[in-house]
Amino acid sequence: MATKLPCRRNAIWNPNKGPEFLRKNYLATEDTAQEIFDVLNKNIWNSELERTNIEIGRIRGSYGWCLGLNTPAGEFYTKKIKLTPKWGCLQWFITILAHEMVHHWQCSIYSNERYESGMPWSKSFIMSHGPSFHRWKASLAKYDIPLKLQH
Ligand SMILES: [Zn+2]
Repeated sequence: MATKLPCRRNAIWNPNKGPEFLRKNYLATEDTAQEIFDVLNKNIWNSELERTNIEIGRIRGSYGWCLGLNTPAGEFYTKKIKLTPKWGCLQWFITILAHEMVHHWQCSIYSNERYESGMPWSKSFIMSHGPSFHRWKASLAKYDIPLKLQH
């Protein structure tokens, strides 16, 4: 059974400070992020994703993001995944990394497949929370990793 992720709804209530998110329990590093990336890639994506730059650094207003660009030749690729350094728990970190990896797949694999199948280049790029995002929900659920919409 999955442990509930820390969030506003199940935060521990501190009568003096309000909700405590316990955000300092797990400090992420770029090395562990790459290790977890490799484990998720092997188990969820059959190692089809290319390694991408994962930066750990402060982010305002979210836990992570994924940046997709295109090469001069027009191929879509993921330039970077960025994740915040302080986490409530390791499970939470893995959940958000998995979310950004779905965007990495959308950008670096699915966008190129769309173009190769005849879609105009200007419409091929996709990084969204639509059907191609939710396609990975069941695969991640096998490992009790929820595919959450926020990041
Ligand atoms: Zn997202």
